[in-house]
Amino acid sequence: DANNVQREKVDAGMYKGVWVYLEQFEGNLRRVGLELLAPGRNLADELGEELAAVIIGHNVESLASKAIASGADRVYLVDDKEYATYNNDNYTLALTQMINEHKPNVLLLGATNDGRELGPRIASKMGTGLCADCTNLGIDPETKLVAWTRPAFGGNIMATIFCPDQRPQMGTVRGKVFKPAEPDETRTGEIVRACPEVSRTAIRTKLIEILKIGDNACNIEEAEIIVGCGRGIGKRENLKLAEELAQALGGVVGASRPIVDSEWISSLQQVGQTGKTVSPKIYIACGISGAIQHLAGMSSADIIIAINKDPDAPIFKIADYGIVGDVLEFLPILTDEVRKL
Ligand code: FAD
Repeated sequence: DANNVQREKVDAGMYKGVWVYLEQFEGNLRRVGLELLAPGRNLADELGEELAAVIIGHNVESLASKAIASGADRVYLVDDKEYATYNNDNYTLALTQMINEHKPNVLLLGATNDGRELGPRIASKMGTGLCADCTNLGIDPETKLVAWTRPAFGGNIMATIFCPDQRPQMGTVRGKVFKPAEPDETRTGEIVRACPEVSRTAIRTKLIEILKIGDNACNIEEAEIIVGCGRGIGKRENLKLAEELAQALGGVVGASRPIVDSEWISSLQQVGQTGKTVSPKIYIACGISGAIQHLAGMSSADIIIAINKDPDAPIFKIADYGIVGDVLEFLPILTDEVRKL
């Protein structure tokens, strides 16, 4: 059809190599891409195949050596002013053309806004599947297929998914699940310059302006400390108590869905099943009951501290430290103590 969709079972033997899409913004690599090079390296080694990174942008050549130092054997580099800013249509087109030409066996993308947009579109164009939001990756010893693991039913079960008949085997992977490998500057690799054809008719969206939202909102997925606010915070004005604590700790503010639905805070700060998945070192849940949909987004935090006036609140079941009390009274005390440190 118009998208040249492949529906037939493909000859899997023709597809070789593990690719990691390294997302960049304004010439800086997103952390999740570097994280993915680590499991990507393991998959490639287990399969006896190469690990390649794909970088798309403009004036991004210097990023290729970072990818090689972090484990890539090869970098496919698309460096052209046409790709200066992310555009879903032409990035999808570029990646699809490169996949058709080089036929990778596996493609990993970060489960970021861009990755969640690009992944399904590429999968659809290639007629393959996509396992979204994975938290673990492995190789099935018998079939040599990638075993993609992801939480399902709000985190109640872990599903392991295979893509036996189509290629590439594709998935988006959550940030902070894997640790990036220590860069080794002595590693060498090949840089392959790719020049995909740009089709003006395929580009249906135009970037008019990039609006930068406050750092708090942007950094929630990469934050090491998150002060999460729930309905127990009472009213919009009380959010400043959480902001003050976050500032004292060098962290950011997150929120449960009711806080976002009340428009007290940007939806970019929502944590949970329909919000962001975060994995900070410390998550302080303030007046959050601990509904399964919220836990789905934050239960992998290293340390969970819950402040809730209800001793039976479910959040205490997963909290490492619990304070039974009024969040409005406790937050200023905690902030003062942190400032004294
Ligand atoms: P509540 O459940 O109302 O809890 C408030 C808590 O504050 C209570 O435990 C109470 O004891 C405590 N409290 C009250 N006053 C004080 C005080 N002064 N001091 C201390 N504690 C106090 N929710 C999300 O968060 N993220 C999601 O992504 C998300 N996705 C969803 C997707 C679907 C399909 C559905 C159906 C629901 C989703 N939800 C999500 C909503 C979720 O089910 C819960 O309703 C929500 O998480 C509850 O938010 P909360 O804990 O802030 O509020």
